[in-house]
Amino acid sequence: MTNLKLATLNGNERTVVPVDSLRVGAGFTMIAGPCTVESEEQTIETAIAVKKAGAHALRGGAFKPRSSPYAFQGLGLKGLQILKKAKEETGLPIVTEVIDSRDVFWVSEYADVLQIGARNMQNFSLLKEVGRSERPVLLKRGMNSTVEEWLNCAEYILSEGNPHVILCERGIRTFEKYTRNTLDLSSVPAIKELSHLPIIVDPSHASGRVSLIPSLSLAALAAGADGLIVEVDINRDKALCDRDQTLTPSEFTRLMEKVTGLYQFMAAQQ
Ligand code: PEP
Ligand code: MN
Repeated sequence: MTNLKLATLNGNERTVVPVDSLRVGAGFTMIAGPCTVESEEQTIETAIAVKKAGAHALRGGAFKPRSSPYAFQGLGLKGLQILKKAKEETGLPIVTEVIDSRDVFWVSEYADVLQIGARNMQNFSLLKEVGRSERPVLLKRGMNSTVEEWLNCAEYILSEGNPHVILCERGIRTFEKYTRNTLDLSSVPAIKELSHLPIIVDPSHASGRVSLIPSLSLAALAAGADGLIVEVDINRDKALCDRDQTLTPSEFTRLMEKVTGLYQFMAAQQ
């Protein structure tokens, strides 16, 4: 690995990222919520449901980096205000994407964790700006990026002075078409070998299919992931974005039971 200094494991203790009272990297973290904030009712009801099932943080996009400029782009400020209300209702910290370096400062008023999406992994001005922010950063792996390129992007954030980076494996592009992406689970133990940063897995964007999410979640945990980020929506069948990979609250509750069971089993082996 070339030119990595701050992101490497060499001599460093494993990083635990504080998010309110959560400690990402110490124990198992579940982040859940809608792909996109569509309305106050949808977001708050989903937040209440995922909290009840045991989630530790709420995800939801207010700025959506869509493949088409004609697709719904998210509610922007209104979406962030809704997320803030959802936090007031449930106490769940908010994970939300920022897509423009000019927005980092004011989005940080609403976000407890700033998400950098796969499409922006190598947006270096955005990385530098979140590197100067006080907020923890969830850095998703670019769909065409190597582990080394991904760690270099983490290095951009760390070298600006922000030590709180959480990596997120969300699948990479391969020739396989059955799944939306190919979940590269080997990156989980590879990151553990190379870096002190916590790593979570997104089985929703990795697979694009509800039916695959439980197996991929359990596999991620068994591979050593520090947590998961999963799409859940109270109105799944009407969701404007990523419906095919979004769990209903009852599916999410079953998933939580499975991952909690595996987590307890693994903890008892140590
Ligand atoms: C998301 O998590 O909302 C998202 C757009 O994912 P990705 O950047 O991994 O495609
Ligand atoms: Mn999505």
